[in-house]
Amino acid sequence: TAPLMPRSHRDDFPGLAGNWAYLDTAATAQKPQMVIDAIARAYGTDYATVHRGVYARSADMTVAFEAAREKVARFMGAASPNEVVFVRGATEGINLIAQSWGERLEAGDRILITQLEHHSNIVPWQLLAAHKNLHLDVAPITADGRIDEAALIAMIGPRTRLVSIAHVSNVLGSVADVPRIAAAAHAQGALLLVDGCQAAPHMTLDMTALGADFYVWSGHKLYGPTGIGVLWARADILESMPPWQGGGAMIETVTYERSTFAPPPQRFEAGTPHIAGAIGLAAAVDYVESIGLDHIQAHEAELVAATRAALGQLNSVRLFGPDDSAGIVSFAIDGVHPHDIGTILDEAGVAIRAGHHCAQPLMGVLGVPATARASFGIYNDLSDVARLAAGIERVTRIFGAQE
Ligand code: PMP
Repeated sequence: TAPLMPRSHRDDFPGLAGNWAYLDTAATAQKPQMVIDAIARAYGTDYATVHRGVYARSADMTVAFEAAREKVARFMGAASPNEVVFVRGATEGINLIAQSWGERLEAGDRILITQLEHHSNIVPWQLLAAHKNLHLDVAPITADGRIDEAALIAMIGPRTRLVSIAHVSNVLGSVADVPRIAAAAHAQGALLLVDGCQAAPHMTLDMTALGADFYVWSGHKLYGPTGIGVLWARADILESMPPWQGGGAMIETVTYERSTFAPPPQRFEAGTPHIAGAIGLAAAVDYVESIGLDHIQAHEAELVAATRAALGQLNSVRLFGPDDSAGIVSFAIDGVHPHDIGTILDEAGVAIRAGHHCAQPLMGVLGVPATARASFGIYNDLSDVARLAAGIERVTRIFGAQE
């Protein structure tokens, strides 16, 4: 079959040189040359600090850094760039919320997460719960690997202060109905935090339409640099939050006795920011928008369908997650450890992830110690799916698994 996308998208990515099938984009995406070039320019001919310099180079860099914030705000449908805080990644974004917004919570308050959360949306709440004497509730998933939204909504009670869910599961690829959950949370006076790590690279985001209160994601999964990510929150909520880290750039005035703090987003960006990271992320947004998220979504849906069809033919393969997963297919093979699947595929030049995918408790729910996971990006095509399918057939032959 002809590739769905022109081969040229693959050619934009130097990391894909050599004839290998990269199927681990959910862990981290490869970088297009234009992102690498933007980072090189930021550290090279354009380099200077931001926000402080009185000289032209620094003023230019400040304009570029704030333009990156504006680009990100537009990309995710934020009402204002002031709602966009640059953080290290989704993990840091969630910890920032837990430590700053979480300060207002009181003993007996409840936080509601789901069974399919990444460790980064479990552990910060456990730390906060231990510190503040909170209850952490966990909503179940359905047999096909979605959040059981009716059950989750029924669990939101008068003491629930925050519901925190993955927009897209990094293991199952299932997509949550965020507006529905937001409405249910707000009806009980709770806020909604959405972990958008696996959504941002695969679908158009619109903060107004989603109706969440917090939204976090990581640049490196959107073909951008590591070390940069986004915490978005509604302006009135950010305004109400106390500083998180103290230092330069987040203050208004400082005396030996006390300090006053800058308005958001600067209040939450202490220290010299990841300047080149923000500029690289803006280039990644440009790259993704030049292809179009509608196009990317349709392309990845075809790759998921082809993968599920090919692997579904093998009796020994168990597929997890729903058919309409967003770019992710997790599976297991009877009697074969996922690490062995990964190793045999690697010998055939196919890179997948095998393990608990930082969602250890979910493995227990699925009844497996680990899964194998293939995940797709802009640069994959049907030839990658064919190589994966051939590799899996080889695994089943080697292990004598029932086909
Ligand atoms: N949430 C989800 C759903 C993820 O897939 C990931 C990354 N695997 C994270 C959070 C954490 O992202 P990061 O490691 O970039 O902070």
